[in-house]
Amino acid sequence: MNKTLATLRTAAVSGALVLAALAAPAPLAQAVGEGPNYDGNGQITTSKLATYDELVSFLKDQDTRQPAMDLEVIGKTVKGRDIHLVKYISDPAKPTILYLTQQHGNEQLTTEGAMAFVKHLGTGKSGDILDGVNILIVPMLNADGAMGDVNFPLDDYLAKGDRHMTRYNAEEVDLNRDHVAKIQPETQALHTNVMRKYNIDYMIDLHHQGTRSERDGKLVSGSILYPTTPNADPAVVEMSKQLGAVVFNNVDSTGWGHLGKYVGGSAETISRNGIAVEYGIATLLFEMRGMSDHYLDGYALGLRSNGYLIQQTVTTLTATAAAIADGSIADADTSFWDSLDTQTSRPGEEADDE
Ligand SMILES: [Zn+2]
Repeated sequence: MNKTLATLRTAAVSGALVLAALAAPAPLAQAVGEGPNYDGNGQITTSKLATYDELVSFLKDQDTRQPAMDLEVIGKTVKGRDIHLVKYISDPAKPTILYLTQQHGNEQLTTEGAMAFVKHLGTGKSGDILDGVNILIVPMLNADGAMGDVNFPLDDYLAKGDRHMTRYNAEEVDLNRDHVAKIQPETQALHTNVMRKYNIDYMIDLHHQGTRSERDGKLVSGSILYPTTPNADPAVVEMSKQLGAVVFNNVDSTGWGHLGKYVGGSAETISRNGIAVEYGIATLLFEMRGMSDHYLDGYALGLRSNGYLIQQTVTTLTATAAAIADGSIADADTSFWDSLDTQTSRPGEEADDE
């Protein structure tokens, strides 16, 4: 497929999914069948997801169309794929937020959502946002895992489609446990060419969790958490909680959004903790429901949930960028964290692993 066709195909797929999420209510059978409250796994396939090449074609195409956007290569994966940074920097003195997706290769709807967000920024309808905030996006950090191009077998993974997708990078390392040692090339690229190069105030690290977590007896559409290491500056933790408040208020109020508090550890090898401590950046973990592929039942989620989960990402990125741009994030009420219940897992799922 040539570049133009690939771009069109990617745009068509992303656009269709977003439109599906925004359109009138789906027929009842579908809404009950595999919508936000669907209690099964459905048809699990990777065939509708953008490949790495389609992502790159999309980004290059948007770069030529969007004057405000810059595209930079920050390094290469183990297998030699370029890792990209999308930049909207209007004024370095303005606050800056970084959105990071797919440290874990089998958690792709966050990247699909980031693509839709980039496309939306190019429409000009969000000009006010870009005037008030600098936006950095690193999509699909773990491109090798996302393409199943790894040095270990994926034979027991569940998804149908043209490829399997795995949490780990090509060397079977969990990138979200490498933020202190920074041994892997993907982690090095992020820290050397993004974290140390830009004056970043906020970061949202976007992931997917299993399918069977609930709050108040209802399956969640996702879960959130701020830095929980005792070494994080309390002021940074408070800013992180404000970031979480903006996300919660905008997502949980939709018909399909239902968020729980994530159960997370205090290790600084995890970006949520390590980046808060090392750079003084306010961080938020956002875990969307259900992975694109997995070897365990209870983790992977069928494609008919894609629409609302992609929209959940778009809502999250748009709302947080807007709240930083207009300064309203400083007034966000963090007291909801005290009453937000920790999500619990129904049988068949182990503890989630950000
Ligand atoms: Zn993850």
